Amino acid sequence: MTFGFDTLQIHAGARPDPATGARQTPIYQTTAYVFRDADHAAALFNLQEVGYIYSRLTNPTIAVLQERVATLEGGVGAVCCSSGHAAQIMALFPLMTPGDNVVVSTRLYGGSITQFSQTIKRFGWSATFVDFDDIDAVKAAADENTKAIFCESISNPGGYLTDIPAVAAVADGLGIPLIVDNTLASPYLCKPIEMGATLVVHSLTKYLTGNGTVTGGVVVDSGNFDWSASDKFPSLSQPEPAYHGLKFHETFGNLAFTFHGIAIGLRDLGMTLNPQAAHYTLMGIETLSLRMQRHVENAEKVAAWLEADARVDYVTYAGLASSPYAARKAAIYPKGAGALFTFAVKGGYEACVKLVDSVEIFSHVANLGDTRSLIIHSASTTHRQLTLEQQEAAGAGPSVVRLSIGIEDENDLIRDLDQALAAATA
Ligand SMILES: *Cc1c(COP(=O)(O)O)cnc(C)c1O
Repeated sequence: MTFGFDTLQIHAGARPDPATGARQTPIYQTTAYVFRDADHAAALFNLQEVGYIYSRLTNPTIAVLQERVATLEGGVGAVCCSSGHAAQIMALFPLMTPGDNVVVSTRLYGGSITQFSQTIKRFGWSATFVDFDDIDAVKAAADENTKAIFCESISNPGGYLTDIPAVAAVADGLGIPLIVDNTLASPYLCKPIEMGATLVVHSLTKYLTGNGTVTGGVVVDSGNFDWSASDKFPSLSQPEPAYHGLKFHETFGNLAFTFHGIAIGLRDLGMTLNPQAAHYTLMGIETLSLRMQRHVENAEKVAAWLEADARVDYVTYAGLASSPYAARKAAIYPKGAGALFTFAVKGGYEACVKLVDSVEIFSHVANLGDTRSLIIHSASTTHRQLTLEQQEAAGAGPSVVRLSIGIEDENDLIRDLDQALAAATA
């Protein structure tokens, strides 16, 4: 029997607690688990038996969340970690060795641009940035040391839509995995694995938890990639020296990446989620489809209102009929283009600063994907350190404001923007 999304978001991975019958998934707030005997302990440490050893590696509450997200994304397994940024490192770690590179989209969450352009260099890795609307450029950017392609499904900050099937075909041709950051879409609006992605990463911090309470991340494994088809991925296909020479792909088949993520990634990098956070995220996911429907409905109404307003220069929302992404939205993102977009205010930098100071329902914060509506002026905050040219290239020029539309009453959101725009352009 197969179940619908609304059923799976509540039930996947969960069962009544075997010890107590508790219906809601308990928070297993424990560091360690008692071994039955010395043989049991040895079997667990040899990965001959799956079970719980120590919560840096595995924990029953987190295991439910992993199974829930893997199911919703159509993957075979998932590894939770301490943040969305941790998930990105955890996704690349089994694939990369010093000297390797990853081809990434220019349109990414600002923190991801810094992580890929600066910080991964400390590992001897590098990233080549390309415009993913130019599929030939994506292909041309790869060389023999390219070990992955990375993009966002719906991309920050403009809410642009990536043609995932086209990018997946490029990755396929090159024999490397496509990693999709599906944070802004959630599996309700987009299922990258069905379109050919190998791995999906999320910041659980955003729509999956949905209410601004948790920092967390997850890497979902499609189980579809043949790690032994080439010699490009020795950590998965060859004896892994960090695990007494175990060959992950030969031993664990289509769960090789997931097992590597736990047995090497969490064990040695230690970027582990905590069980309390997993509990909040599980509760958030129970209402994911309902929230995403409302986020999209509200975003469509607010974007249309802004587009028709004389004080506004342009709106980037891909859910508008006027968007250059309208055809891609209909073909690939039929349930909606998410709820994050930017708009440009006539009056430039000064008007934008006044606008964020004048809103009453919208919160001026550096976050997104909350039930609450959020606003930020990137040029005076997140993109402050960049040159004017870099700000413009990122879609975060001085006159641009980013909105993350929440699930409040849409008329209240429009009234709030109306009065704030009046104050800003007076
Ligand atoms: C927030 C975000 C991240 C980083 O996630 P954290 O949980 O803040 O580390 C990565 N990608 C996207 C698209 C995001 O919105």
